[in-house]
Amino acid sequence: MNCMAIEQRGEVILVDCGVTFDNRNLGVDVIHPDFGALETFGTRLVGVVITHGHEDHIGALPYLLKRYDVPVWAPPYSLGLIRERLGEHEVLAHARLLETRPRTPFKVGSFEIEPIRVTHSIADATALAITTDAGTIVHTGDFKLDEAPPDGEHFDSERLAELGDAGVTLLMSDSTNIDSEGPTGNEVDVAAVLEELTEGATGAVVVAMFASNIHRLRLLGDIARKTGRKIVLLGRGVGTHARVARSTGYLPWPDDLVWPERRARELPHSKILAVATGSQGEANAALSKLARGDHPSLDIGSGDRIVLSARTIPGNETEVHALLGKLLKRGCEIRTRLTDRGIHVSGHAHRPEQRRMIELVRPKYFIPVHGTFHHLTRHAQLARETGVEHVAVIENGRIAEVSTDGLDTTHTTHFGRVHVWAGRPIAPAVLRERQVLAEEGFASCSVLVDARNAVLDVTLVTRGVLDEAEHADEIDGVEAALRRAIAALPANVDEARITEEIRLTVRRAFFQTRGKKPVTVVHFRRTPS
Ligand SMILES: [Zn+2]
Ligand SMILES: [Zn+2]
Repeated sequence: MNCMAIEQRGEVILVDCGVTFDNRNLGVDVIHPDFGALETFGTRLVGVVITHGHEDHIGALPYLLKRYDVPVWAPPYSLGLIRERLGEHEVLAHARLLETRPRTPFKVGSFEIEPIRVTHSIADATALAITTDAGTIVHTGDFKLDEAPPDGEHFDSERLAELGDAGVTLLMSDSTNIDSEGPTGNEVDVAAVLEELTEGATGAVVVAMFASNIHRLRLLGDIARKTGRKIVLLGRGVGTHARVARSTGYLPWPDDLVWPERRARELPHSKILAVATGSQGEANAALSKLARGDHPSLDIGSGDRIVLSARTIPGNETEVHALLGKLLKRGCEIRTRLTDRGIHVSGHAHRPEQRRMIELVRPKYFIPVHGTFHHLTRHAQLARETGVEHVAVIENGRIAEVSTDGLDTTHTTHFGRVHVWAGRPIAPAVLRERQVLAEEGFASCSVLVDARNAVLDVTLVTRGVLDEAEHADEIDGVEAALRRAIAALPANVDEARITEEIRLTVRRAFFQTRGKKPVTVVHFRRTPS
């Protein structure tokens, strides 16, 4: 959910505008930043500048552009993906989208911005050099140092060093892999491993990976050609990325290299090099469908090789293991990082490359970005060791005031998260309610009394608490407790008090039998006397 505002002379630009996801299974589709802070500056948003096309950097653009009619600058490949996203949200028609190129500065209000080529797990990634009244700010975006990028677009250390020579006020750098030592590794080395795995296979080879890694997709195309196989793209994600990459020149594939997905059953398995989404065990993705045997265009089993060319994002282990289990039961052979080192490399710089970035830019001030507080703190420590004069760790909502006098981080601003469900924001209170419903269950209680509060009827219905048919005794017990509680009330008690007493009695009764207090709704009625 990367999104940062830079303000000067009453004008604001945003660097990136990303989303994140909610893994609590509460039905939330996506989370985007609360843009409320943009209202509090008393300033004017003049544009958005995108570093690269990953969802955590572009995904919130539709939500921003629904509220602010501002231009968006992005590298061509990101722009292709942005167009897809905006099209889904029907904001494409009025969007002002402008292409950026490395080493080609452009103006956004009073800011001058120069994109700088960096390497990353997506093609066409950039860092930004932003000229401000307080000097140059370098924002790395997401980066790593790939020494042999498959598209030939090299990490521009020369330009970063030039900027360093000229003097950089502030560097903000990607902290994701601060805990990893050693070189990050190159995509071509992954390709060598994937080529060996493809050559050695007799049946179909299915490579599960992040759809956005166009470098790897491109190299898989080369592998397919060399091994006499066809590329089969399984899943919407890889289809979209391949289409956008081909239209922007990042995937120079001949037409006969790709075999149409819907006709995959016509190909002998020995001719298939499939690329599938779903490396994190996502239930609706192609790999899960293959594992369940309900993929519409391909069946896999004994003799086929599944290559998990991705890391398992912490938190997804259970899903991934369940998925691998299903594939094993079908007779597939599984290759992962455990069987083949080098089957995947990260898109984010390891510690030595983060150090190299600081040494190239030699900033006066340093603020680590992208990562948890732990990552930021360790990256800050690295910058101090590297000799940066002033280092600050700041969290969401904190303002860093940069001037010739120093770096002041004492002020804060409004910030937050907007959870989106079915296309609309969903209130935090509603989400809390869902969480409680999941944990405690639900009870609905209808009570009918006569004019003297004698109970005529009690009906208790529960959801997510117990099997009512099997535990009819328990339901009867709660109903009996209700009758007693109502009978014990004074004769002249008002309706609100009775309703509340019923609610509390139901919750107390289930707390005694189940240790849970279901969310309880009461329908109280009194017959006319
Ligand atoms: Zn990224
Ligand atoms: Zn990112």
